[in-house]
Amino acid sequence: MRRKLTRRDMITGSAAAACVLVAPRRARAQSVTLNDASELNPTPVARHWIVKGTPKTDFIARLRAELKAAAAEGRPVAVSTARHSMGGQSLARDGVAVSLMDGTCEPNSQSRSYRATAGTRWRDVIATLDPLGFSPAVTQSNNDFGVSGTFSVNAHGWPVPYGPFGSTVRSIELMTADGAVVTCSRSENSELFRLALGGYGLLGVVLSAEIEMVDNVLLAPSYDIIPSADFAPRFIDATADPAARMMYGRLSVVREDFLDEALLTTYRPVDTSDPLPPPEFGSAAKSLARRVYRAQIGSDRGKRMRWWVETVLRPHASSNRATRNALLNTPVALLASNDSARVDILHEYFVPAERFGDFVALCREVIQVSRQELLNITLRYVAADDLSVLAYAPGPRIAGVMAFSQRKTPEDEREMRRLTQRLIDGVAALGGSFYLPYRLHARRDQVERIYANAGAFAAAKRKLDRKLIFRNALWDAYFA
Ligand SMILES: Cc1cc2nc3c(=O)[nH]c(=O)nc-3n(C[C@H](O)[C@H](O)[C@H](O)COP(=O)(O)OP(=O)(O)OC[C@H]3O[C@@H](n4cnc5c(N)ncnc54)[C@H](O)[C@@H]3O)c2cc1C
Repeated sequence: MRRKLTRRDMITGSAAAACVLVAPRRARAQSVTLNDASELNPTPVARHWIVKGTPKTDFIARLRAELKAAAAEGRPVAVSTARHSMGGQSLARDGVAVSLMDGTCEPNSQSRSYRATAGTRWRDVIATLDPLGFSPAVTQSNNDFGVSGTFSVNAHGWPVPYGPFGSTVRSIELMTADGAVVTCSRSENSELFRLALGGYGLLGVVLSAEIEMVDNVLLAPSYDIIPSADFAPRFIDATADPAARMMYGRLSVVREDFLDEALLTTYRPVDTSDPLPPPEFGSAAKSLARRVYRAQIGSDRGKRMRWWVETVLRPHASSNRATRNALLNTPVALLASNDSARVDILHEYFVPAERFGDFVALCREVIQVSRQELLNITLRYVAADDLSVLAYAPGPRIAGVMAFSQRKTPEDEREMRRLTQRLIDGVAALGGSFYLPYRLHARRDQVERIYANAGAFAAAKRKLDRKLIFRNALWDAYFA
């Protein structure tokens, strides 16, 4: 009997993988179509190499051979981990797709760091560090993503007071286009480190990374409901509290009083002599969270209900205590859609705290007249990034992470593009920026305006990868 295709199959291409190469040989050049988390990027690839359970030395040898073969054929190569980017950043049309499905994580308590190979997912890192009493310093909000994908977008999370992920990476091993393996860090091959960090796989393949870890601790939340107009100064003050370990804000998306109210949630350590609980939370809580979240679609009552759950019900729950690892160990599936006609599309903007009020006004003006269904705006603190060449937070920023539920129709796609471009123009005028792993709806001039180093990045890439082996849809759209 044929198994029903899941969203995961669509993303990993594993449905098609039965007839796909598992080793990088040219013997069967059968075209396969892969997609990413947007489900809007069907991309034919010439070969799909699924890397699973492959020892690192074998992987390195095969990857070197694959880069050579691709160069001889004039094909681009794009590597992916969880493929949760949304604009083909992990895919190259008619190229070679390398899907890193797993990896290993080796902690070193003395150096308070761990070395993770490229395909390692955050859930694996947490499972390894948790029994030792440690926790990854920075991850995204979900545990599904790969460590090397996280490095290559230079993601950020909600532990405070950190900057993007790269600030916690000590070094990486990178395979460059000529097959060389190079160690890169702030002090060794630093220019390549700065280019590859947030460089969307365009400089080489990350083979492993040494990353900082911190103590895993039990945390308890406090909740403040404040007018959105007062949010920024309160948030910035709160990040200066040395006891604050994890922190996020949220804006009400109820239509009647759109973005008027904000919730600030701050987690601080709790003393306990008991052993820390494992990093999991119950399936009942999961199913309720999902139902409340999805009930917002097309329903202002649903939006009001969710805001009530967030601001009234949750703060009164008997125990909201959780370890740092449990908070980081949330799967994307927790809130995922199962409506095949719609998909959740994220946007993310970064603004200086002093322009946050103007950002809220911009969002009101632009989003309210749009027909796109906004489900959530989460606010995060991102400290300045002085490492990545393509830095999205050249100074301290408040990040506004937006989740829309979009219909998968050409009209909605056009509308979403218009909405995105208006938001980017507005954010650029505020001295802010937008994040590159989502839909490629920004115009090229917008990318060049906001990413001041875009030209230098492309020039350096051309110099280091003369045959342009590493390419993907982001390169084609903005740098080619
Ligand atoms: C539901 C959801 C929640 C999110 N939350 C956050 C968040 O909290 N914070 C945040 O910053 N971002 C967030 N994102 C964005 C997310 O961090 C990026 O999409 C990230 O790329 C996802 O990791 P991945 O493993 O899926 O990477 P992929 O999509 O597989 O790859 C991303 C990029 O990295 C490159 N790459 C992957 N592996 C390698 C390698 N070994 N060597 C070189 N290049 C490589 C790819 O080519 C691609 O350009 C979220 C996205 C979704 C869908």
